[in-house]
Amino acid sequence: MAVGDRMFPMFQQLNQEELEALVDRAAALISVTQFHLGRALREIDRRETWMADGAKGIVEWTQTRCGYERRTARTVVETAEALELLPRLTEVVKSGAVSLDQASAASKLEQREDVELAELAQTHAPSALRRMAAATREPLPPESRRFSWGWIHDGAALRLSGRLPADEGQYVAAALDRLRDDVPPDPETGMFQPAEQRGADALVELASLSLQQDSDPDRATVVVHVDAKDLSAESESGSRLPPATLDRILCDSTLQAMVEAESGTVGIGRRSRVVPHGIRRALHSRDASCRFPGCARTRWTHAHHIREWVRDEGPTDLDNLVRLCGYHHRVIHRGWKIEGSPGGRLQWFRPDGRELTIGTGALPTDLHDRFIGVQAGPAP
Ligand SMILES: [Zn+2]
Ligand SMILES: [Zn+2]
Repeated sequence: MAVGDRMFPMFQQLNQEELEALVDRAAALISVTQFHLGRALREIDRRETWMADGAKGIVEWTQTRCGYERRTARTVVETAEALELLPRLTEVVKSGAVSLDQASAASKLEQREDVELAELAQTHAPSALRRMAAATREPLPPESRRFSWGWIHDGAALRLSGRLPADEGQYVAAALDRLRDDVPPDPETGMFQPAEQRGADALVELASLSLQQDSDPDRATVVVHVDAKDLSAESESGSRLPPATLDRILCDSTLQAMVEAESGTVGIGRRSRVVPHGIRRALHSRDASCRFPGCARTRWTHAHHIREWVRDEGPTDLDNLVRLCGYHHRVIHRGWKIEGSPGGRLQWFRPDGRELTIGTGALPTDLHDRFIGVQAGPAP
């Protein structure tokens, strides 16, 4: 029995020495390939090509592409980034002598020379390296917590300042991080706004979510004025909305469109686009979370019409609806197409027509033979 065209032994036929050699070889191979994986991901991140796949960032793209948990994807990417400034540690990682976990923990040790990190990574377990890192950090005492806010420039702006000890700060940071990550790139330019601006949006979002907590969080209402003549739109602040934004607004009742003629407001959208509660419940029981490949968000999701309600006269039926998170709802309305049956398998096509595929595919047989050289067979 051969995996490729060669004969390989089964695990049961290996002696202890051969088994341990296989463990070493396989683990070193994983370390080396994870290093190169990280390098490739960093290059993709620099090119920002993950954006074309509707991902929010390189970590999310990696999760989908490689089938990883978020933690694994983040460790691979962040370690690759840290290693770019640590040539000695990079050398030992590249040789396979240091695992990804060791490299990740070592790269977080502050105030150490690169050479020392390379040494420590080879001789310490990841947990020991993490303890070393924690021991060098001084915790902030609870009395030092403070937060204040006040109006400045005669009420034109709100100024905030403060600090929290790490344990409490974690809650605030986790909530803000998540909301900031949900702020999409500018639909006109495809570029993300600076992190500080998205952070400000996140804080406003956090506050409005808190105010809305007694109502259905799926259905926050924002009123948008729509010109009945050409179905172009202005937001309440008076800024012009691009057509893709209008389609998204008309797609679900999360936002309300006020259709206006010259005589004044003539109606609130076309009522039948609003997804009734019964259908929404059925949608949520069919789609446990956002259906975009690799996404698992369940909060603040929208019902998206696969065939658009306004332009394609798509019905508000379960068969034409798919659950999407706010972020991916914006993505889809920038020229993506969904095909297939929402009750079964869906296919997702980018604006350039290419299908978004998921997963890495199997390891080619010649690589398997060359690097693994044993056949798994059935477990005894
Ligand atoms: Zn939609
Ligand atoms: Zn999503």
